[in-house]
Amino acid sequence: MTSQRTRMRMIERLRNYGITDEIILSVMGTIPRHLFVEEALASRAYEDVALPINYGQTISSPWMVARMSELLRNNSSLNKVLEIGTGCGYQTAVLAKLANYVYSVERIGPLLTRTRIRLHKLQIKNISLKHADGLLGLPDASPFDGIIMTAVTTHIPDTLLEQLTIGGRIVFPRGSNKQNLCIIEKNANGYEETMLEEVNFVPIISGVIKK
Ligand code: SAH
Repeated sequence: MTSQRTRMRMIERLRNYGITDEIILSVMGTIPRHLFVEEALASRAYEDVALPINYGQTISSPWMVARMSELLRNNSSLNKVLEIGTGCGYQTAVLAKLANYVYSVERIGPLLTRTRIRLHKLQIKNISLKHADGLLGLPDASPFDGIIMTAVTTHIPDTLLEQLTIGGRIVFPRGSNKQNLCIIEKNANGYEETMLEEVNFVPIISGVIKK
């Protein structure tokens, strides 16, 4: 149920449903997704569904992770990436294999503590996890050539957009009741926005939870 063969079936499904970035497919083929959910749910980890990860949050479905990674990568190499909403760390693990370095920010302290242990056990080293409000970004580590946000918002604050390189992009779900994937790209003249398919994410919340 959690074998390499199950993982390969997931990759085949993603390819059939339209993911074309072979680098992302091969990366997702190497990451043991079942280790990112509670043991009771491990047998469902490779199904194309979002699953609960405690604290009222969810691990994004394989499709969503592949799709957002594909949009973020845009067929070019990524140097420094910021992820907002670490959750269980699966997307972080994928990004760590796509980018030179990944900063990931999570507002729920105890969730991040568990994720930190998990990613350490998997020996993922080119990441830095921060317990903070992701809406503020990480000015000291900026600029980023990619920012990915895995919780829905109606608006991206200017402070966050300012942390993108020229040519960089942010990929996130935009909306409230009705949500769509959205890309905002920063170029020399300003920002360009593209709205894509409808999606379903938990909301972004400002402030942090310590315990
Ligand atoms: N990529 C994660 C998604 C988790 S759900 C995964 O697949 O596991 C979204 C996450 O965003 C939750 O863990 C939630 O706590 C976090 N989040 C919501 N608002 C946030 C904020 N302002 N700053 C940082 N993280 C936030």
